[in-house]
Amino acid sequence: MGSPFADSILSIVAARNAAEPEYRQAVREVVESIEPLIAKRPEIVRLKIVERMVEPERQIIFRVPWVNDAGEVQVNRGFRVQFNSALGPYKGGLRFHPSVNLGIIKFLGFEQTFKNALTTTPIGGAKGGSDFDPKGKSEREVMSFCESFMNELHRHIGPDTDIPAGDIGVGAREIGFLFGQYKRITNTFTGVLTGKGLSYGGSLARKEATGYGLVYFVTRMLESLGADWTGKTVVISGAGNVALYAAEKARSLGARVVALSDSNGYIHDPEGIDLDTARRIKEVERGRIREYVFDHPSAAYVEGCEGIWSIPCDVALPCATQNELDGKSAELLVRNGCMAVAEGANMPCTPEAVKVFHDAGVPLGPAKAANAGGVATSALEMSQNSMRLSWPFQEVDQRLHQIMDNIYSQCSRAAEAHGLKGNLVAGANIAGFLRVADAMIAQGI
Ligand code: NDP
Repeated sequence: MGSPFADSILSIVAARNAAEPEYRQAVREVVESIEPLIAKRPEIVRLKIVERMVEPERQIIFRVPWVNDAGEVQVNRGFRVQFNSALGPYKGGLRFHPSVNLGIIKFLGFEQTFKNALTTTPIGGAKGGSDFDPKGKSEREVMSFCESFMNELHRHIGPDTDIPAGDIGVGAREIGFLFGQYKRITNTFTGVLTGKGLSYGGSLARKEATGYGLVYFVTRMLESLGADWTGKTVVISGAGNVALYAAEKARSLGARVVALSDSNGYIHDPEGIDLDTARRIKEVERGRIREYVFDHPSAAYVEGCEGIWSIPCDVALPCATQNELDGKSAELLVRNGCMAVAEGANMPCTPEAVKVFHDAGVPLGPAKAANAGGVATSALEMSQNSMRLSWPFQEVDQRLHQIMDNIYSQCSRAAEAHGLKGNLVAGANIAGFLRVADAMIAQGI
């Protein structure tokens, strides 16, 4: 039981979103975190700011029919949830994965709103996607799906309205097909999507941004413990965009990344993962992480994902998917001496895991702060598109670094100001919430 305020919000959310456990989980974390703020700001209650925030501004669900290589008609479901536009046009990624449903997209859109606020760039929050699985599909099938998806989505987006980007299952290839179809339908060449290829308006360092940004954030966490990356052993789950570039940056700062995974299992290479091999398998060949051991027979491949958290490490970076690190895995990490955990994926730690880290005094960098580098750099891509300019890699990377430093400082200051020193989860929720709440109050009902 929380306060009467939290209980009343959570009961409304439970009644309206009964079949959406991930969404209720995301709301609960924010609502419980902002309690210390509510007493200080009575207008938040009077103006029903939280009640308004938990109801998306607009939800679009649509049919996506397409034809596979065998000539058979396929039907998927598409989503775009435009959550909150108080701070700017809607912005957030598209996820193509069979597990996608409305509740998943809503939890991601809700989180995105506060994450985008923390970047201090002028963007609102949204998320979208489909239950389409690009894995095992031919290039022609992926293109056919993306074109059909955009046939509907184009009505709802635009460079000043809603600017989607990538997420799980949506990388440069999918963004290219989506952009091409938007351009054909609307006869405009605009910055309507981010994560574009460099030849048609993409930003340097966007591909690296979420992973690099995560490592910049953890650098500040380690500093607060009087430590740095040198000689640290790092375990990273996932082997996608976020995981690979977090691994690259951590290694460049002197750490040894010993594990990566995909949805089938994980690899453990105590000597340090050879990232050229991992990138070739995942980015070029679109293969499975188990293939790593063909090139590196001294490494081990273990079927199943959870066991990855049993590998002793100094820093753990869950970068695959929601609720992938539970209470038991958190206990293992703590027992094995893990000193810091940061979320590259969105909501990868279950509430039980968060509690274990909190009770053990292991600092946890929450997703909405620690993985905000991707969307921050997407906002930089939007700026470059508007100015018809392309900044050098170093300039974008430097801005990203500054943004991540600033996010860390906001979270740490907000936590301390509300009597929760060191609690970055609460700090991120309070700082992000306040920015959105103030803009909503200013803009009326
Ligand atoms: P990718 O599609 O590039 O990679 C996802 C990785 O996670 C793959 O290795 C995938 O394995 C694995 N994975 C996906 N689902 C599961 C599952 N159910 N169980 C175990 N492993 C799984 O996605 P990203 O790297 O872009 O995204 C990873 C996470 O980071 C997501 O939570 C996303 O929301 C978050 N994120 C991404 C940002 C970005 O800029 N890309 C920005 C901020 C957050 P497999 O190949 O087997 O599916």
